[in-house]
Amino acid sequence: MAEDTSLGSSPLFSGEAEMIRVVDGVHMLRMWANVCIVESGEGVVLFDAGLPFHGPRIVEELRRLTDAPVLYIIYGHGHADHAFGTPFLLRDAEERGYPRPRVIAHEALPRRFDRYRRMLPYHERINRMQFDIPEGIPAFPWEYVYPDETIRDALTLRVGEFTLELRHARGETDDHLWLWIPERKVACVSDFWVWSCPNVGNPFKVQRYALEWAVALEEVAQRSPEVLLPGHGSPLLGVETIGEACLQVSEALRYLDQQVVDMLNGGMWQEEILHSFQWPEEYARSPYLAPIYGHPYFVVQALLRQYHGWYDGNPSHLFPSPEAEIAAEVLALAGEERVFGRAKELEGKGELQLSLHLLDFLLAGGAGARMEAMEVKARILERMAGEERSLIARNILLAGARELRRETAGKGPVGEGGD
Ligand SMILES: [Zn+2]
Repeated sequence: MAEDTSLGSSPLFSGEAEMIRVVDGVHMLRMWANVCIVESGEGVVLFDAGLPFHGPRIVEELRRLTDAPVLYIIYGHGHADHAFGTPFLLRDAEERGYPRPRVIAHEALPRRFDRYRRMLPYHERINRMQFDIPEGIPAFPWEYVYPDETIRDALTLRVGEFTLELRHARGETDDHLWLWIPERKVACVSDFWVWSCPNVGNPFKVQRYALEWAVALEEVAQRSPEVLLPGHGSPLLGVETIGEACLQVSEALRYLDQQVVDMLNGGMWQEEILHSFQWPEEYARSPYLAPIYGHPYFVVQALLRQYHGWYDGNPSHLFPSPEAEIAAEVLALAGEERVFGRAKELEGKGELQLSLHLLDFLLAGGAGARMEAMEVKARILERMAGEERSLIARNILLAGARELRRETAGKGPVGEGGD
């Protein structure tokens, strides 16, 4: 994917858009977050509405395709990249003297929008980190168009020659929908398919639902789609390929879910589960489950959070001392130099994660060599980021490194003036 370097390194900023004619009357505007377009004799239906700053481009591409009015805008789910080009589409309708398109979404979506608006600075901060969005560019939507109509489980619309069957299932969100068009055997699934290990267990975000995601993919496969239009990336084509792909991902999610349930039933705690769950070679090598965005480790974290409270089985951690106090005790006993020496030795051996833990004692414990330890930690985080395949994990590592480098350069944390 080409990148506009003036806007930073995030693929989010790719200005690329490609209108793909999928089958007669169904198009996919391929962008960072895809927009599905159903063009009937009666008017147009959009499934998903993109990012706020892609809104003008969505209108431009739509109008290159057709002059017909937009009848419905359906939100596949309420994430920032799927429901926020709407204001531009509404303005387009107004300018053309068309009736206002009706916005349809799942009934849980307004609650999501309410939460986003209540916690805008927080979402700004975590999305900036997750997607590596440079300071000075809004990292989260600011204009919210709530649905005119909401769905609980299912809704069928008749638009021109098309039947649009909308189905709800929880997956990446609690407000997720997918669309089935029987006349064309097309399934528009939003983020039920993203060409990655499903992003269950995003490190920043609220609960997501592995098992229900698996069931939804099985239901999609049951319809035997000839085309599957995903929330991100290229269409998936062919009944057999789609069936195989959906069922492999659902099988992998079920497998992780069952392991977590069995291990919890067997008396294991989080720490042990996170270090002993299995992710078979077959999944690790699958093009449908690549850990390039979501990650199996994140899925297990989400399952633990879904089925379990936060207590980790060690009563020392119930009301723990501040990290700084624990670290100061360790440094006083072991000596700063020995801890730092061992941290650098581990770095040299490529034991980067272990080295980070030792460096954290120096950072939290107020060591004299704190600045130097920060430099080493930043260097390690950058090295780990270079080897990390998950975009989310990579951006977290890089954000950490950047923060440390700012501090060692004497600029202070982000948001306290400076650049
Ligand atoms: Zn998305």
